[in-house]
Parts: sequence; structure tokens; C-alpha cells
Amino acid sequence: MRPSAECDVIIAGAGPAGSYLAYLLATSGLRVVLLEKKQIPRYKACGGGLTTRARKHLPFDLGEIVEDAATTARLYVNGRRAFERTYPQAVVSMVMRDKLDAFLADQAAAAGAQVEAGVRFRSGVFTDDGVIIDTSAGQQEARCLVGADGAHSRVARHLGLTLRYRVMTAIEAELEVDAPAHARFRHAFDFDFGVIAQGYGWVFPKKDHLSAGILTRRSKAPMLERDFRRYLDSKGLGTARARSLRLHPIPYAPHAGNRYANRAGLVVGDASGMVDPITGEGIYYALRTARLAATAIGDYFNRGIPWATYDDTLRATVGRELRYAGWLAAILYRLPWLSHPLLSRCGDRIAPRLLDVFQGQVGYPELFRYVVGWRGLKQLLAAPAKSV
Ligand SMILES: Cc1cc2nc3c(=O)[nH]c(=O)nc-3n(C[C@H](O)[C@H](O)[C@H](O)COP(=O)(O)OP(=O)(O)OC[C@H]3O[C@@H](n4cnc5c(N)ncnc54)[C@H](O)[C@@H]3O)c2cc1C
Repeated sequence: MRPSAECDVIIAGAGPAGSYLAYLLATSGLRVVLLEKKQIPRYKACGGGLTTRARKHLPFDLGEIVEDAATTARLYVNGRRAFERTYPQAVVSMVMRDKLDAFLADQAAAAGAQVEAGVRFRSGVFTDDGVIIDTSAGQQEARCLVGADGAHSRVARHLGLTLRYRVMTAIEAELEVDAPAHARFRHAFDFDFGVIAQGYGWVFPKKDHLSAGILTRRSKAPMLERDFRRYLDSKGLGTARARSLRLHPIPYAPHAGNRYANRAGLVVGDASGMVDPITGEGIYYALRTARLAATAIGDYFNRGIPWATYDDTLRATVGRELRYAGWLAAILYRLPWLSHPLLSRCGDRIAPRLLDVFQGQVGYPELFRYVVGWRGLKQLLAAPAKSV
């Protein structure tokens, strides 16, 4: 089935979701245009923590793009260390998003996608044959339109997909630190619970600096910058020079009634609201939703099956997994009187299981069953806490 439009698929947004989808579709022989409103490379506020489960999705050697392979995981609760373990291999690969995203856009271009940087999606008109879109560089025509344009997606609105989700607030900065401070965090990553209500803080190592941030599930957090400064002080990083210090929204907990696709197109990545409600990890879900979308769009062009099947598949897979993650997040963030003592006492039993999720060895449904299941509860409450 090949329509008369100029191209088969237009994707708006060259983050991981858009570029990876463009790569997959172009590799399968489809004519793809990838629009990015900013010039590439562009700065993107992000911890840049690429978990092993996310990395496994990418069929590329990331080589020099990985700034630090973090093998040591450290978990603190109310300032006290509850867990520390060094693994033989990286649990999280630390990247700078300008480099990772430019690399992925390059892979899409090398596979045959037409990458147009500095071109903004404005609006779309939908016809029986597809879509005519208006961009800052003129009009383009395609059969299918994909919104990979991040939180509060403009494309979703124009597709008529009224998406509802909650929004976390995060603040993140790139920290210029001296060599001893950098060395303290090399090859390690810190998660700190109890530094902010309904959230956590993190410090991630990069090649020549540190990325640090805090997030809260509260959609309004007027004192977040003050909380962040306090957090940096508590980590001994209070004197570091902070670049790119800004508040950012992270979507999560998409509403059960959402629709992610219709006959005009679909949404992937943050535009769908599919983000980890515990950690705010979104790159993995950006890549996963892109892969599901590539299958659905490929099925349409090869076999005539409507790509709207993406909607059911997305909800039955990623959506289901995130529901379990959401229940765990509710225990962690809404019941701190229960979760913080439990994490302090049993960090050495709970954290490895969360790290198994990061590594793609188990999913959130299994972790949830462990935490609330009888066997897990018995193990957590009966065994004495190990000192770390
Ligand atoms: C402070 C912070 C820290 C984070 N840390 C991590 C982390 O450590 N690990 C992790 O996995 N996730 C992290 N996340 C989440 C992660 O950044 C996102 O989930 C991820 O970027 C989603 O990818 P995406 O491709 O869907 O969207 P994005 O990366 O947001 O890309 C969307 C792209 O669309 C472009 N765009 C927008 N509108 C238009 C338009 N009209 N026309 C054309 N282009 C448009 C934008 O310029 C952008 O390049 C963090 C998020 C924040 C805010």
C-alpha cells in the first residue's frame, strides 16, 4: 500500500523516540522525514542516565558517547547510606543528551531518513489520503504523522489525541567541580530519598563534570531551587558552579482512557506520557514506544493493517508495566513513614531488585509482586538489615 504523498511518515521531534523511530522505519525502506525545531546538536536537560535495559534496545556501538560507565550504585535515605554495591559491568551508562540525540539523528539519516533541523511542526490538516502539515519551512505531505515532540505534544493536540497524564517537576544542572569532587562520583551514581517531598535527588558522573538534580511528583514546586541548593550542600557540592539550572516537566502516569493513535497518526516517547513514575527514566520508554510504533506502521505499509493497533499494544505492554511501577511509586512517595524505614532497613534487598529492573532482567510487575507478596514481605521484615 503506497499512497501518493511526498513521503510515508513525518515525525516531529528528534529526541530518542523520534530519531530511533526514523531509523527503524528508514531501515525498513519507508520514506521518512524527521523534523526538529532546534538545531542539532541541542542541549536537553536530562540526567543522561542510560540504563542497561535502554542500551540493549540500540543496535549501535555508543563508543565515545558514553561519558562514564557507572558500575557502583549507592542509595541514601534521609542522608544515611542504605545500599552500595559495585557490579562487574555498567548498570547505567552516563551520556550527554546533545551527543546521544545527535548520534541517533545521524543514524536515522544514514539509514535514509531526511532529517530537517531547525524546522518546527505548526499544524496539520487531515485528508482521506493522509496529512498535510504546516511547518516553519513550508508545507509537507505524508500518509502518517508521528508526534515525538516531548511533553505537552503539539502534534498530539493536532491529531486530536487528548492525552492526560500527571507531571513531575525536576530541576537539573551540569556542575563544574574540582578533581577531588569529580573523583568521589566517578563510575558511581547516587540516589537520595528524603531530600525532597515525594521525590529524590541524584548525582551522575560525566567525563569532566557532574550532572545533579532533584525531582518531585508535585506539579508545582516553587521552592525547588532552594531544595536543590540544600541537596548540593548535603552532597558536599555546594560550591560547584551550576550550568543550565532550570525547572522541567516530566510527564508520567498516563490516564487509562488515553488513546495514542488514530487514522492520522500516533505519539511516542514523552509525548505519550510513558515515563517511569519512580525514577523519571524516559529514554528507555522512548525507545520502546518507538519500536512498537515502527512495528505498527510497518504492518500498515506492508500488510495494510491499520497502525491504530499501536494503541492496544502500547497499553497492554508499556502501559501495563507502568501501572505496576505507579503502585510502587505510590508506596514509595505517598507513604514515606513506611517506605523510608523499609528502604533504610532493607535497602540491600530492595535496591538490587530495582537495579535488576534497570538492567532489564525483571520488570515492574515482578518487583511489585516481590514487595507486596508474602515471600518478599517475610524476607524484608524478618532478616536483619546488613550494614553497608
Ligand atoms: C531534569 C530531567 C532529568 C532526566 N533524567 C533522565 C535520565 O537520567 N534518564 C532517562 O532515561 N530519562 C531522563 N529524563 C527523561 C528523558 O529526558 C525523557 O523521557 C526523554 O528525553 C524523552 O525522549 P523523547 O524523544 O520522547 O522527547 P524529547 O527528548 O523531549 O525530544 C522531543 C524533541 O522534539 C522537539 N520538538 C518539540 N516540539 C517540536 C515541534 N513543534 N516541531 C519539531 N520538533 C519539536 C524538541 O526540540 C525535542 O528535541 C529526564 C528528564 C528531565 C526533565
